[in-house]
Amino acid sequence: MVIIGAGFTGVSAALDLATAGLKVVILEANEVGAGASGRNGGLACSGWRHDQKWLEARMGREDARRLWLLAEDAKSDLLSRMQDFHIDADWTPGQIFAAHTPRLMQDLDEDADFMARAYGHERPKRLDREEITQALGTSAYHGGWRDPSAGHIHPLKLLYGLMQAALNAKANLHEYSRVTEVGSDRGKHFAKTRTGRVLADHILLCGDGYLDGIEPDVEARVLPIGSFVLATEPLPKDSAILPEHDSVMDTRFVVNYWRKTADRRLIFGGGEKYTPNWPIDVESFVRRNLVKIYPELRSIQVTHAWGGALGITPTRLPYLHQVRPGLLSASGYSGQGVVLAPYFGRILAACVLSQHRDYDVLARMPVPHFPGGRALRWPLLTAAMSWYALRDKLP
Ligand SMILES: Cc1cc2nc3c(=O)[nH]c(=O)nc-3n(C[C@H](O)[C@H](O)[C@H](O)COP(=O)(O)OP(=O)(O)OC[C@H]3O[C@@H](n4cnc5c(N)ncnc54)[C@H](O)[C@@H]3O)c2cc1C
Repeated sequence: MVIIGAGFTGVSAALDLATAGLKVVILEANEVGAGASGRNGGLACSGWRHDQKWLEARMGREDARRLWLLAEDAKSDLLSRMQDFHIDADWTPGQIFAAHTPRLMQDLDEDADFMARAYGHERPKRLDREEITQALGTSAYHGGWRDPSAGHIHPLKLLYGLMQAALNAKANLHEYSRVTEVGSDRGKHFAKTRTGRVLADHILLCGDGYLDGIEPDVEARVLPIGSFVLATEPLPKDSAILPEHDSVMDTRFVVNYWRKTADRRLIFGGGEKYTPNWPIDVESFVRRNLVKIYPELRSIQVTHAWGGALGITPTRLPYLHQVRPGLLSASGYSGQGVVLAPYFGRILAACVLSQHRDYDVLARMPVPHFPGGRALRWPLLTAAMSWYALRDKLP
């Protein structure tokens, strides 16, 4: 059993497969957590990147409902796994979705009404303009919704915890072992690295935005985009910013997301790149978005700034796929991988052990190719994303 990639997807699959007694080999091009799982903002979100109305329109009521329940299950599964394996990843409940225009506040209200009516989902709490100003410590937003079932974690602590549990279950980890080719030979799959080939009955592709040149079918649907984050020096104890330690994401297409760490640093993500040319000065790139929301942080000391690649799909839905019998892939969580990637890792593992009962609905999610083929998909993606990013600036 070979797993390519030691992020949430791969490590989570490894844990279940090693626990079930399979011989598991993880091949990681770099170090555990070198990909998005060790670099992300730590927001553990509810649902999918599209609301339920969108899913119902594309997939029908029944599939959309099953997907909603799966996303809910993914959240609670993450919490119970942290408990089962004694992983202290600074889990903090509470996530605010903040509307940056009155029209988007109206959309959020309509969506909440629909969810209460059609799904019996009443957990989020509405925040009016005054309440959101108080909750965020900024008057930059028109209102929002607070979801107590979502929240935030320290992503690397979560990943290391899952990795340790997988090692305890006798999974084998090989860092600095980039796979350059997967293929089949005499009824077995193989993964080729610089030093040799590993033969296996099953191979799981868990490279998400870092998988490059391995499997054209996946790479036609999952493209890496760059997302960028900074961490400030610890804020004062009496800071008005996030007094309840919520995590926040806003309604912009190029989303801003932020939270406070256990030691009161502000982790702020804002700004994306749709080409492989990343900013040289990440701190300034992100800070200019930070100060639009918190002008008083104009000269706060930034202690760390970094970027990472995450896989997105044309529909922003994950791509779960059996490429060939025995060769499976899950990726393209489009910014919601903290909850979804460990869960999809479990689904991959279940598919290896026996067919997973929800594989059918998850594999039915519409994930087409990016237009333009390998040559033109970058320019077309850049043009489309830049257009949507421009719309963030309109009232
Ligand atoms: C800056 C940033 C902020 C984010 N913020 C959030 C957030 O707040 N909330 C949220 O839900 N999601 C967020 N995400 C997305 C989330 O982190 C990802 O969806 C998730 O981590 C994907 O996990 P993964 O295991 O599939 O991939 P990754 O964690 O990217 O792991 C893939 C691994 O595969 C390895 N690999 C790739 N190719 C090969 C190969 N050929 N051979 C061997 N190894 C290989 C890579 O080295 C890497 O370690 C963010 C992402 C980024 C980059």
